[in-house]
Amino acid sequence: MPNHIIAVANQKGGVGKTTTAVNLGAALAEMGHSVIIIDLDPQGNASTGLGIAPDQRDQTVYDLLTGDTDLISAAAITDIPGLRIVPSTSDLASADVDLSDVADRTSLLRKQTERAEPGTIILIDCPPALGLLTVNAMVAATSVLVPLQAEFYALEGLSQLLSTIRQVRQGANPDLRISGVLVTMSDYRNNLAQQVEADVRATLKDLVYTTVIPRNVRVSEAPSHAQPVLAYDPASKGSAAYRNFAREFAEKLKLSPETV
Ligand code: ADP
Ligand code: MG
Repeated sequence: MPNHIIAVANQKGGVGKTTTAVNLGAALAEMGHSVIIIDLDPQGNASTGLGIAPDQRDQTVYDLLTGDTDLISAAAITDIPGLRIVPSTSDLASADVDLSDVADRTSLLRKQTERAEPGTIILIDCPPALGLLTVNAMVAATSVLVPLQAEFYALEGLSQLLSTIRQVRQGANPDLRISGVLVTMSDYRNNLAQQVEADVRATLKDLVYTTVIPRNVRVSEAPSHAQPVLAYDPASKGSAAYRNFAREFAEKLKLSPETV
């Protein structure tokens, strides 16, 4: 059976892609799965948030794309058992231009993820754009997970994202699926957020996960402590929500429970 490779994508910035990749990854690792996060954003927030300081980023996603390293060598261990990350640095920002003449430039990541150890779950933290990097993620992926922030313009831009998914399906990756849409940063004291969630569910129906991630200050504090919220404050509302989400996510993917 092929590995599960999930592109966490939305071309909007600040919707919770990195937070979701890091905390879903940590929760799945806690459940006993072997998880590799690929930090595909030149900002390197997932790398920093998991405690990989810039001077420790020996082998990066850039080296992975150019074929100078492989997934297993480039995956750095984190403090969370079972969770590794291929870090990124700002040089990834020029990948679009640097790789523009390379043949098969949209399948560079796929060539690497195809050789992952069987049973590994790979989560790709995409940059806030639909350029070459995100397309590489979608070509490599088995499914796309879309975090959507519970705010007024939540659905804006979604049609563009769906059309990119459609293009990738018509080209290099006909089997690409949509894993689902995760509502993030919801505030239940806020009527607008509730209305937005209701609209999103009415529009996207079964595509929307039941679990909603609440806005929780512990979630936003955790990255500055170089930890997932699950490790920083395991009893927080944010940790509980990401654990629930990981269970729902695993069930939907029919991941067999691993023995810890
Ligand atoms: P993206 O990767 O889509 O740009 P991030 O995951 O970096 O988005 O989230 C954007 C900001 O919102 C970050 O500062 C993050 O810490 C914060 N954030 C994300 N999810 C939550 C949450 N559930 N509660 C509070 N703050 C959050
Ligand atoms: Mg991010």
